[in-house]
Amino acid sequence: MRLVMLGAPGAGKGTQAKKIADKYGIPHISTGDIFRANIKNGTELGKRAKAYMDQGALVPDELVVDLVADRVKQADCEKGYVLDGFPRTIPQAESLDAVLKDMGQKIDHAINVEVPDENIVKRMSGRRACVSCGATYHIEHAPSKKEGICDRCGEALILRDDDRAETVKTRLSVYHEQTQPLIEYYGGQGCLEDVDGTMDMEEVFAAICRILGE
Ligand code: ADP
Ligand code: AMP
Repeated sequence: MRLVMLGAPGAGKGTQAKKIADKYGIPHISTGDIFRANIKNGTELGKRAKAYMDQGALVPDELVVDLVADRVKQADCEKGYVLDGFPRTIPQAESLDAVLKDMGQKIDHAINVEVPDENIVKRMSGRRACVSCGATYHIEHAPSKKEGICDRCGEALILRDDDRAETVKTRLSVYHEQTQPLIEYYGGQGCLEDVDGTMDMEEVFAAICRILGE
């Protein structure tokens, strides 16, 4: 089962992608997490990506396409995967399709998590992230057991620099300009499924499971 998560930044793609990955036993591939891990480890890719991420801009396609192409060819992706944060532009989606075509594969479902812009800024300012293991919390909707500490690995949680209100506004306009056209793209392929992302997390997950078949 090869899935793509679509939706604005903060719509809940990562939250749902992790639940899907756990339930169906497939890898969760988040390009944002890959970049943040590279930044943390001080790699050349991390240094290049950080400049764009801090401004709320997209990292150039050429820095992300090969990375994902290599990842989906790995053995643990044989039964499928859930892509979160990729593709984010039409050229990225076309490159992914070309790679999959060569492998005799295709995307089975593009899940579009719909949340209006008004709700997004509040969600993002409450998000807390663990850069060590990729876990995500929300100070109101999904708090960690001990404030500021990751339940899973015990590391300190952070407010991502790009989750500050000003950067979120830039990220939303980048989303509308460059990423939203993917809704039509996957609609044209007949694999688009819309889900109301304003419901609580478990309800959103139940709606996705109904689409995927339990
Ligand atoms: P994305 O991966 O789309 O950027 P996240 O999954 O990180 O979004 O979610 C953004 C923030 O909103 C996180 O703090 C998360 O805990 C919270 N969140 C996710 N889904 C919901 C929901 N259905 N209702 C309320 N808060 C949510
Ligand atoms: P995310 O964790 O998905 O919200 O991504 C955080 C940031 O990483 C984005 O605002 C971009 O700067 C960058 N990024 C992640 N995935 C991509 C992608 N597929 N294409 C371009 N930039 C990306």
